[in-house]
Parts: sequence; C-alpha cells; structure tokens
Amino acid sequence: MYVPKRLGRIPAIGHDELLSSFLIRLAHKHKLNLHTFCSTVLPGHEIWTRDIDRCSNMQLVNDLSRKTGFDASVILEMTLRPFMMIMDGRICRNGISRWILPLGVFHRTRGAFGQQYCSECLAENEPICLRAWRLAFNIQCPVHNLSLRDCCPSCGAPFHPHRNGSLINLKCHVCSNTLISSGSSCTCEGALNFQKKMQNALYSDSLSLHEFNSWHRLLSIIARNDQCFAGDPGGWFQWRLLARVRLFEFATTLKQNWPDSFFLWAETHRLSQAGLNDFDIGPGWLKDAVMLLPERYSPPRKARNSDSRAKILQYVRMPKGVAKSTLREKILLDEAFSVIHKWKFTQSGRKKESDH
Ligand SMILES: [Zn+2]
Ligand SMILES: [Zn+2]
Repeated sequence: MYVPKRLGRIPAIGHDELLSSFLIRLAHKHKLNLHTFCSTVLPGHEIWTRDIDRCSNMQLVNDLSRKTGFDASVILEMTLRPFMMIMDGRICRNGISRWILPLGVFHRTRGAFGQQYCSECLAENEPICLRAWRLAFNIQCPVHNLSLRDCCPSCGAPFHPHRNGSLINLKCHVCSNTLISSGSSCTCEGALNFQKKMQNALYSDSLSLHEFNSWHRLLSIIARNDQCFAGDPGGWFQWRLLARVRLFEFATTLKQNWPDSFFLWAETHRLSQAGLNDFDIGPGWLKDAVMLLPERYSPPRKARNSDSRAKILQYVRMPKGVAKSTLREKILLDEAFSVIHKWKFTQSGRKKESDH
C-alpha cells in the first residue's frame, strides 16, 4: 500500500482529546481498519498493546508528527504526560501513575475500567475521548452534570474505544448495544467538591505538588485502614467509579474539620506514626497532623480467657430447660475459683518460706 509522507485527511484535534482517540478518528477518516492503518502508517510501533495515552514514546510522537504535520509538542499535549508532571512530578512509563486510571493492558486484552466516558458528550458532538476521563478524581461531567460511566450500560464490559469501531459507532465492543443511555447526576456533594477542587488546581496550577501528594496519601491511608473500604483491590486510584465516589465523600468530610476529625478517626483505627511510615508522606498539612499522632501503639492485649469462653458459648447446645446464662455464670465462677485457688497457693508458698 502506498503511504504518502504526509497524510491527506487530518481531523481537527478536539478540545482535551486523547491521543488514542485522535488515532482512531485518523484511521476512520482514511476509511481503513484501525489495525491495518496503524501497521501501515506507523509501522514498528506497539500501539494497542500499550496504554499510549499514558506512556507513548517519543519515536511514536515524532512519527505521528511527521505524518500529520502537527508539531510534536501538540501530539504530546494529547497524552496524559502534562497531567502526570503537575500531579505526580514525574512521567511513569511502565508502572502505575498516581491519579491516572489504569486500563489493565495485558497483551491485547484490557481488564480494567479506566476509560470513563460521558454518554451525552459522546452523543452530542463528533465522538472523542477526553483526557479528563482518565483522571481518577473525575466522577461527573462538568458540562452535563451527569455521572461518568466506566462500562457498557447493557453488559457491564469496560469501554474499549478502539475495538470494533466502538468510539465511531458508539456501540459496546462486546454486546453491540448502544453506549448512549440516560444517566443520572452524582448526589455526593463532598465527592463533587473534591473533583472541582482538583480540576481547578490542575488547570490553574494553583496546588503545589506537595498538596496533591498530601491528598493522594490521605486517600491511600483511608483506603488501606478503614474497613468500610475493604474489599477493593489495589490502590484507590485503581478502583471503579462508585468505590472512588464513596472514598472522596469520606475524605472531604474528614478534611472539613481538620485535623480534629482526622485524630478521632486515627484513634478509632489505632493509627500511629510508626503505622504510617510506609506511606512516604511528604511535607504539608497531612504530615503536620501525622506528626501529632502517638509514635506507636502497643499490640492489642490477648483476649481474656473468659472472653474466648463466652464466644464458645454461642456454639454450645444446651440441654433442655437450662439457660445459656447459667452456663456463662458457671464458667465465670470457675474462673473466679481458679484465680482464688492460685492466690491461695502463692500465699501458702510464701507462708512456708517464712516458717523456714
Ligand atoms: Zn458530558
Ligand atoms: Zn455491552
């Protein structure tokens, strides 16, 4: 196939559009299958077996720049790199990026639900995927005030814009049902305020890296230590939409009466400075509060015998007509006798010693 040095039909880049979304539309403009297009126009690049929005290499950026005529800086701007630099202070190409939702790419499969979308945004204009939809703090579309989606409304499969023309025809790549369906607004005010705060900070550069780090660590500490959030695997930024909404709602409540509410919560969960050592908390309001926690907690005392006996009582089948309380009283009485017996034994030993 003849491939001109520079492609002829170049779509305009949408506002806040992701690089992957632009590539899908570029292939569609040339009326070619996406994979055929990529292997012909950008040979030698692994594109759909990678998360190119998070970790595209400069070779791909430069090749795409030559083919489209866009400056390399414009191509780079379509990736999540600028966000990573502001919020994380580094480009994490291979590992996990804080604040960026993972796609769970493994060879040709993608197991995670990190590609969120607003069905109204997709339906209203020429469909594109936004960079903002990959950010972990984003839970609602600020234009339509609708909760974002992280899966197909019919079958629950993750949204894979590059599979089976999903982004172009707005149909699920698994069940082929429409991705567009009526949605609802998020009602968690704290979580929405958190999103707004983070968005403002990101686009106006008003929060320092330390501030982003403090928020990230606070969310991680809650996620790991509060049983209410147990069961969701991985770091909180790998969680699905609803689990994150619950977490943000709780974290903003905790931050409202800072640091008193944090101290109370930390005490309830027996958190000490030593227990939070592995969170690598940088300077800022979180570090200041953590430094006021107890240095360490002693391990919880062993359950008393009587407690464990009382637990056993739950499973004891009582003879007819005998109440469990009778048995409980007997066990406690036994224990009292045993303590008295031990005490008498020690006393008699001491008496013998003094007689000698
Ligand atoms: Zn929208
Ligand atoms: Zn589906």
